[in-house]
Amino acid sequence: MRHVIIGNGPAGVIAAETLRAQRPGDDIVLVGDEPEPPYSRMAIPYLLEGDIGEPGTYLRKGPDHFAGLRIILRQAAAQSVDTQARTVRFGDGGVLPYDRLLLATGSAPADPPIPGIHSPGVLTCWTLADARKIAQAVQPGTRVLQLGAGFIGCIIMESITSRGASLTVVEMGDRVVPRMMPPGAAALIKRWCEGKGVRILTGAKASRIDRDASGLHVHLEGGETLDVDVVISATGVQPKIGFLNGSGVATHTGILVDDHMRTNVTDVYAAGDCVEAAEFWTDTRFVNAIQLNAADQARIAALNMAGRPTRSQGALALNVLDTFGMISTSFGQWQGVKGGDHTELCDEGAFRYLRLEFSGDVLVGATSLGLTEHVGVIRGLIQSRVRLGKWKAHLMQDPTQVMAAYLACAQDAA
Ligand SMILES: Cc1cc2nc3c(=O)[nH]c(=O)nc-3n(C[C@H](O)[C@H](O)[C@H](O)COP(=O)(O)OP(=O)(O)OC[C@H]3O[C@@H](n4cnc5c(N)ncnc54)[C@H](O)[C@@H]3O)c2cc1C
Repeated sequence: MRHVIIGNGPAGVIAAETLRAQRPGDDIVLVGDEPEPPYSRMAIPYLLEGDIGEPGTYLRKGPDHFAGLRIILRQAAAQSVDTQARTVRFGDGGVLPYDRLLLATGSAPADPPIPGIHSPGVLTCWTLADARKIAQAVQPGTRVLQLGAGFIGCIIMESITSRGASLTVVEMGDRVVPRMMPPGAAALIKRWCEGKGVRILTGAKASRIDRDASGLHVHLEGGETLDVDVVISATGVQPKIGFLNGSGVATHTGILVDDHMRTNVTDVYAAGDCVEAAEFWTDTRFVNAIQLNAADQARIAALNMAGRPTRSQGALALNVLDTFGMISTSFGQWQGVKGGDHTELCDEGAFRYLRLEFSGDVLVGATSLGLTEHVGVIRGLIQSRVRLGKWKAHLMQDPTQVMAAYLACAQDAA
């Protein structure tokens, strides 16, 4: 039996290792199109801040790790998949037959429709190659404009300012991290970043980027023009699925999978940032582009590929953000559900925030800022779908009582 895995990020690596543990005698081929050993994009901010070197980003450290597991690494870009013939065709002309195929190609930065977005000096922050370009371009005194203050945008701000650059952030949403945080928490994050010297413009949209000998000129819809040396585009990501055109594998925004991580084509599975899967609480499909989700889906996909039927409970939004040392989180249905209710605690002076969202007496979502000690317990309460009974009223009064509620309810239920 030959398992071919396209994509050697966290999803591909975890799937390969899970398969090896389950199927000692099978062939496993792990294919990636980047020249480096499998690495974690999550580590790029630490690389830019100088905390680690490139080897520190590698997912597995020993040079013989994959060979020792008899996982064959191959560097090539998959160009097409023939699901009838069960083969993958690569850009180097090679063709690889498979018995079971895992699609784990991740996502790539979105390409916003802004004239001038492809000018020299406009960079993205997604790959190690991108990180090298940023390290070269962003020096003490460099004027940087960042497009987007979403999940990745908020993570990389410190990487830019720590290099001695000045930073302006343009976010078209009405607040920072608009797809991850309610307004109360987002306002605190914005003020926190401004306190670190970052200028943040929300509700602002770049309409054009010009370049001349003096640098880049970013025109905003309101009429303002910002003169900078470097633009970093962090306006979201898109699943890398173009190579599946004509394969018969069903896609929408991402690759559509069922709760076993199976696509609509027999023996073809998918996991990670390239996948659009059902959400934990609803049947709504979404791309949950975080590493934890990639790892979880990869393990489930690999167990099913190995013949051990395993179901996913659904993709749970689990966003943990470190912005200049301020830890914020949002989980599950953080934006609330129809007919549900919520409680909110906000200490603006201390940068502490906690909001809990309920459906009936079940905790379905939460947002926190500056309150890391509660994070594991909140996640446990949401994932266990436990009924809180009288503890819901206590939490509505004082949301910081989540630990007591967890001990009383979740452990009883377990
Ligand atoms: C700067 C930064 C910071 C981040 N911080 C966090 C964080 O704090 N927490 C968190 O949870 N997540 C974070 N993420 C997101 C996280 O890195 C992704 O969710 C995770 O990498 C997804 O893993 P994956 O294996 O699905 O995809 P990827 O890591 O993208 O790996 C996919 C691999 O497939 C390869 N590939 C693509 N197409 C092909 C093809 N046609 N042929 C062959 N190979 C192909 C790609 O080159 C890549 O190597 C961060 C991302 C970035 C960029």
